[in-house]
Amino acid sequence: MTAAKKKAIREILDRYHIVDSKQVSALRKSSMACVSFPTCGLAMAESERYLPSLIDKLEETVNEVGLRDKEIVIRMSGCPNGCSRAAMAEIGFIGKAPGKYNLYLGGGFKGERLSKMYKENIGEEEILDTLRPLLNDYGKNRSAGEHFGDYVIRAGYIKATSDGTNFHD
Ligand code: SF4
Repeated sequence: MTAAKKKAIREILDRYHIVDSKQVSALRKSSMACVSFPTCGLAMAESERYLPSLIDKLEETVNEVGLRDKEIVIRMSGCPNGCSRAAMAEIGFIGKAPGKYNLYLGGGFKGERLSKMYKENIGEEEILDTLRPLLNDYGKNRSAGEHFGDYVIRAGYIKATSDGTNFHD
């Protein structure tokens, strides 16, 4: 994209108060959700209507541990078809039922590695209880330049998925 086009788009976003880049955490900028309910007939759980409010809650931790400007790729899909490519994210959610998700960890920041399921069929309370200590640990103990998806593997939270045949192991 050219600088002129970028500026024009920025002005439109600012005019309609769609997003204030100074107010948005790197976690939110790195987030993506599929459309899911109410648009998609295959949806099993909320996605684009829910992920922003979940990030509101995770941002509290991110801010506390000094990760506000640290990009962590977080994605949510409303069913296993995975249109937001949640299985490639450093933190991924795949919808199972209303309010319930499988949580995946360990994907590569640049999409170079699939994640692996860490917890199955959990709701918001357990999602937050799981991710808050992990983000805290990452904030305190990561190496310079180390991405979250690499850290959870190095720290032993999850095994790396080396190829699609061990996505579940
Ligand atoms: S991941 Fe599932 S719910 Fe989301 S848009 Fe794709 S098919 Fe629909």
